[in-house]
Amino acid sequence: MKTVSIVVSAYNEEGNIEKLYEELTKEIDKISKVDFEILFVNDGSSDKTFLKIQKLLERDKRLKMVNLKRNFGHEIAMTAGMDYAKGDAVIFMDADLQHPPLYIPQMVDAWLEGAEIVLTKRVDNMATSWLYKLCAKTFYFILNLLSETKIGESMPDFRLIDRKYVDFLKGFNEQDRLFRGLLSWIMPNDKVKVIDFVAPNRFSGVSKYNFFKSLKLAIDSITQFSVRPLHLATWFGFAGAACSIFLGLWVIFEHFVQHNPTPGYATIVSVVGFVGAVQLITLGIIGEYIGKIHIEVKKRPLYLADLIEGKDDKNEK
Ligand code: UDP
Ligand code: MG
Repeated sequence: MKTVSIVVSAYNEEGNIEKLYEELTKEIDKISKVDFEILFVNDGSSDKTFLKIQKLLERDKRLKMVNLKRNFGHEIAMTAGMDYAKGDAVIFMDADLQHPPLYIPQMVDAWLEGAEIVLTKRVDNMATSWLYKLCAKTFYFILNLLSETKIGESMPDFRLIDRKYVDFLKGFNEQDRLFRGLLSWIMPNDKVKVIDFVAPNRFSGVSKYNFFKSLKLAIDSITQFSVRPLHLATWFGFAGAACSIFLGLWVIFEHFVQHNPTPGYATIVSVVGFVGAVQLITLGIIGEYIGKIHIEVKKRPLYLADLIEGKDDKNEK
C-alpha cells in the first residue's frame, strides 16, 4: 500500500499540538486506501511543544518527530520534514489548524486519481484584516512583476506533493529558500489540482510572522528568484544620467542663449543629491545579491536534527 507523509512544522505551538493531532487522526483514520506517517518538526521551540509531541509519540506508531536543535525558520523546518519523509507523497501543513485537516481526504483522493501536485487556494482568510490583504495583494503584484518565477497569491504551504517532485525539491541546495518559489519553479503544466479552502483563525497562540519577518520574506522572495532588480538598478543609473545631462544642457542653454543664468546652488544640490541617490540604490541592490552569494558559497548544512520515533510495537495503534 502507498504511504502519505504529513509534515507539520511547529514553533512554539504547545496549545495546538494535541488539538491538531486529534483533528488530523480523525480525518486520516477515515482513509483506508493509503497508510500515513506523521512527521512533526519541532523547530527549536522554547515552550512545551517538544514534550507535547513526545507524549503523542508514545501513543501512535505512525508519529515521528524531527527535532531541530534551534529555531531555523519555517522554510527550513519544512525542508527537514521533507528530507525525513518516506512517503510516496508528502503533505505539508501548519500546526496552528489554519490548514484544516478536513481537506486531507480530498487531497489524497486527487493524488490517487493522478494529480502529482495538489495545491490549496485560500478563498478567504478569517484571520487577516483588509489592510493585510491589501498589502499581500500589492506584494504579490510587485513580486510577480519583478520575478521571473511566478508565485501564486493565496497559495499557502498547505499542499500535497508526489514523491517525484519531492525528489526534485530535494535537489535544491540553497540556504535561503522559499518553498512557494521553488515549487513554482518545478511546477508541471498538467497533473496539478487546486482545492479551495477557507482558512480559519489560529486555534491557539500568536502568529510567528511580525512586520519585519514578513518584510524580510518579501525581499527574499524577490532576490531569490529574480535578477530583474539588478536590471532596474542599471535603468535607474541611465535615467539619472539622462536627467543630469538634460539639466546640464538646460543650464547651458539658459546661460548662453537666453542670457538668463540660473543660480547655481539649487542645480548643483539637486544634481549631486540625485546622482548620490542613484548610486546608493544601485549599491544597495548589488549588496543584496552579494549578501546572497556570501551565504550560498559557504554550503553549510541546512539544519541539524534528530529523528525520534515511538519506542516499540506495543504502542501500536
Ligand atoms: N513556524 C516554524 N518556524 C518558525 C516560524 C513558524 O516552524 O520559525 C511554523 C508555525 O509553528 C506554524 C507555521 O510555521 O505552524 C506558520 O506560522 P504562523 O502560523 O506563525 O504564520 P502565519 O499563519 O501567521 O502566516
Ligand atoms: Mg498560521
